[in-house]
Amino acid sequence: MPPKKNPKRRGLSKSARNRRKNEIAAYENNPDSDTEHDFEDIDELNDEEERLVTEFAKEQEHVESDRPVDFYKSEDNFPEGALKGVVTSVHRRNFITLSDGEELICFLPRRLMIGERKYKHPVAVGDVVAVEPVENVTQEKQCMLVGIKERKSLLSRAAHFKSDQEQVIAANIDQLIVVVAAAEPAYKIRFIDRVIITAERSQIECVICINKIDLVAQGDDPYEVAEFYTKLGYKVLMLSAKENKGIEEFQQLLENKNSVLTGQSGVGKSSLLNAVQPGLGIKINEVSKKTGKGKHTTTSVQMHMLNFGGSVVDTPGIRSFGMHELLKADLVAYYPEMASYIGLCRFNNCSHTGVEPGCKIMEALEAGVIDPRRHDSYVSIYETLKI
Ligand code: GDP
Ligand code: ZN
Repeated sequence: MPPKKNPKRRGLSKSARNRRKNEIAAYENNPDSDTEHDFEDIDELNDEEERLVTEFAKEQEHVESDRPVDFYKSEDNFPEGALKGVVTSVHRRNFITLSDGEELICFLPRRLMIGERKYKHPVAVGDVVAVEPVENVTQEKQCMLVGIKERKSLLSRAAHFKSDQEQVIAANIDQLIVVVAAAEPAYKIRFIDRVIITAERSQIECVICINKIDLVAQGDDPYEVAEFYTKLGYKVLMLSAKENKGIEEFQQLLENKNSVLTGQSGVGKSSLLNAVQPGLGIKINEVSKKTGKGKHTTTSVQMHMLNFGGSVVDTPGIRSFGMHELLKADLVAYYPEMASYIGLCRFNNCSHTGVEPGCKIMEALEAGVIDPRRHDSYVSIYETLKI
């Protein structure tokens, strides 16, 4: 399907911003919502960002081109003389790549920033790109984007509510790691499930890490949870950053892979990262502190290189990723233990939420075949989906 026409989009229009504000307010006013953090990254623009957006829009006004981004099958086909780099952070007007251990500030040709674009920003953290040094610039070591290697995976969300334009969060990610705490703060199954769904929709592996197991006893709830997820085929690690439990396994998990780490604040993500690479957690905390409090974290998605091979992308607000355009009717397919009943209910448009009679999933739930915590999670996510 061709991307929707939206030729006039430059930055954020005032009405779009207002619409977002209203949507955010609507969610915040919903007492039953657990999505209060989902919108961290799309809060209002601050003055500086506002100024940049306006300036940027002005700059673009005269340019007429809608040439698409050039993708290359392999980096061997990159234009001759271009430098190869990995994108480690993306900003409104430029992006940073790591090329041979050196950080380069790179710019996008204007033609990539306008016209009919499927993506809000043509490059994403994790992209392997070809860049060429730019001449006649006052600053040293500036480069221009000339190519992007085809992505093996893509984590994205809608750039706008009600918009086809996707915002790519990270490219070439191997796994999405959801970190929850066994206690303090209490974990929510639906939070884990949202990440699982996001990962599955992006065809990225999902791994569940339960940290702070020092706070619970063997056989407590978190162990049961670990067991049912393991049975469903997910990899689960039981960790304690405090007591150094499972840290070796955690390091092996990260080694030589591109991972996105997500989890509520306070679950111990920084502590776990510090345990495998001293200082890394601190670095990540600084980034999220600077930008975390609702101020434009979209530009702060950052890829950190691991000194034992691999990388970690830290991004807040991941809960809403991947949920866009998910239909109520399709949700059940993301719950493997329920998916086997698809088509068996009395009504073929059964919601499996206990409303319709003759629901096989409700029967399985009552018979103890389906864990009630998972079904609760299903119902709560179902209710947040629009259609
Ligand atoms: P983040 O917000 O996810 O990065 O979490 P932090 O790493 O900053 O940890 C939040 C709090 O939990 C800190 O006070 C840590 O000392 C504590 N913490 C982290 N890991 C563990 C753990 O395994 N066990 C216990 N008991 N506390 C932990
Ligand atoms: Zn049903």
